[in-house]
Amino acid sequence: MKQFLEQIYDEGSLVCSIDRLAEWVKEPLSSDRRKDSTLLIHLFCGISDRDFAQKVVDSLSHAFPEAEIAGIVSNGEIIDGTISQQCILMSAILFEQSTISVVAFTGDSFSARSVGETLLSIALETPDLKALELLMNGKMLGFAEVYGCLNKCDVDLPFFGGYAMGHDIDKDPTFLLTKYGVIDDGLVAVLYSGKDLHVDAGRTTGWKKLGRPFTVTGAEGRKLISMNGIPAYQLYDSFLKFPNDEVLSRYALEFPLIIQKGKMELLRHPQERLEDDSIMLDGSVSEKMSIYLSYGDPSTIIERINRRCNHIRDFEPEAILLYSCYGRKNYWGNFIDWEMEPFQKLACTGGGCIGGQIMRNHQTGRVIEHRLTLLSVAMREGEKKNIPLPSCQVDEAILKGRTSLINRMSTLVENTVLELQKSIDSLQEMNEKLEEANRELHRVAVTDALTGLYNRREIERLIHSALLALNDPGKELSLIMLDIDYFKKVNDTYGHDVGDIVIKDVAAIIKSFVNDSSGQAAGRWGGEEFFLLLPGKGIKEAASIAEELRKTVEAHEFGTAGHKTVSLGVVSVNAASDYLGIFTRADQALYEAKEGGRNRVVIAK
Ligand code: GH3
Ligand code: MG
Ligand code: MG
Repeated sequence: MKQFLEQIYDEGSLVCSIDRLAEWVKEPLSSDRRKDSTLLIHLFCGISDRDFAQKVVDSLSHAFPEAEIAGIVSNGEIIDGTISQQCILMSAILFEQSTISVVAFTGDSFSARSVGETLLSIALETPDLKALELLMNGKMLGFAEVYGCLNKCDVDLPFFGGYAMGHDIDKDPTFLLTKYGVIDDGLVAVLYSGKDLHVDAGRTTGWKKLGRPFTVTGAEGRKLISMNGIPAYQLYDSFLKFPNDEVLSRYALEFPLIIQKGKMELLRHPQERLEDDSIMLDGSVSEKMSIYLSYGDPSTIIERINRRCNHIRDFEPEAILLYSCYGRKNYWGNFIDWEMEPFQKLACTGGGCIGGQIMRNHQTGRVIEHRLTLLSVAMREGEKKNIPLPSCQVDEAILKGRTSLINRMSTLVENTVLELQKSIDSLQEMNEKLEEANRELHRVAVTDALTGLYNRREIERLIHSALLALNDPGKELSLIMLDIDYFKKVNDTYGHDVGDIVIKDVAAIIKSFVNDSSGQAAGRWGGEEFFLLLPGKGIKEAASIAEELRKTVEAHEFGTAGHKTVSLGVVSVNAASDYLGIFTRADQALYEAKEGGRNRVVIAK
């Protein structure tokens, strides 16, 4: 296997490139070259002129009728590990012992399901299939459905590829190419097969979480509605200040979102702002997920590139294809070569920047579309020769000089966020303490210290507000006023402390009759007198509660003080009745209970 790269700018350079390719193809290959070698020509079209692209394809298929052609409009062309000037990059790979077939589908003649199923059956029938490349364009085909079918391929079969995207994202037309011409809407699949063919496809990202997580508070499929209760776009924009929301997808690519799915971090690219300020993402999201802003960290990127290059070095590649993302190009600017050059040291390296890089998850076999990702596809025919390849490590020291801007800015952002987070954390801690202190202060202000029931002021306030809420004629409420019988005797006989215990015990019994959740409340009115507020209870129910209460106290053993009894006055009002005299009526009923011999319930008139 060998690879040859040419840049085509115009018809003149097309002719020269074809001549050079013809010479190159003739050059002798390794000793065991077979006659049935296959030429696969990739075209990464930085010049998205359909007519010119058609001419390139026609000329190539005329000169190399046996060659397979797979092309895609690209946003950047990668040659020898650098981004070239805008051109049509031709990458020709001559396979000596492998079979390459290109299959194309147009969206207007095929449904996504039929494309997926046909491709799956071709894949399953292709002996020694080693990789599947998918180049896609247009909206007619539902690519997710195509993936859905293809997920059934053997889990180890690598996939790679992505979407057409022009240099001018908004204006340049996008299309795909095969040796038969231009495809505006559809899919081009390249099947790589052969007993001795080895393909290693891997991805490198390097984008890191920025700052604190937000919680997804509203989501539907790919629609991110809100984070931390704030419309998603507003929160996003408040951090990044997008200059024009119509091109959100372009600006957002450099600061995408990372969602944490278990241990996995997935980049999600905001694509569109919707009218309600929700954001359409390029993948699904669900409520309660943690979501982060993210940014490219040069050190992390370089560390990942080094890891990937070491892996490929061990693989001993003969050709390398790179699929990068326009977001990476925007991110690195003039320093983009740093992350591509190392591959070139290992083998001839060509490729393009495309919109969305697809790759399979090794564990699940699912095809996943990535963003901001560098796909590297290393290929080799035959066994490794164990020839030592040059070291290809990027020295992180280069960052200290030339990328000081990106690196220092990102460090600054990261540290600022950390500092802020610390301040936020300590503020939050203080706030929580303050809230706790306030709650305690309030509790003390409304509670009677001896009994733990509401104090007089609070029970009076509660009764008044319950009375004010009685505006519906059907509503009613009742009050029970309670006084311990012959209490003075307790004090006189056993002393104040024992008296206090009796008051506390009676309060505890009263408390056990109160259902807080239905607005009921009990308070100490003063001395050994208490009030129970029973909203929604009519006189009958209130009287029976009072009777139960009386019986419970009567049956209670108050330690030293023995048995005690209580007298109770019950009063009810509804919205229609005059409730101004309610306290007087309760007091009167209680007085009557005392007069009547104590240890009894009297209903107020
Ligand atoms: P009656 O059956 O008519 O209610 O007779 P009584 O002896 O209970 O009379 P009254 O209700 O007038 O007595 C209230 C007494 O409660 C007066 C006061 O000394 C006592 N007292 C008020 N507050 C407290 C307190 O916090 N602790 C104690 N131990 N005694 C209190
Ligand atoms: Mg009393
Ligand atoms: Mg009293």
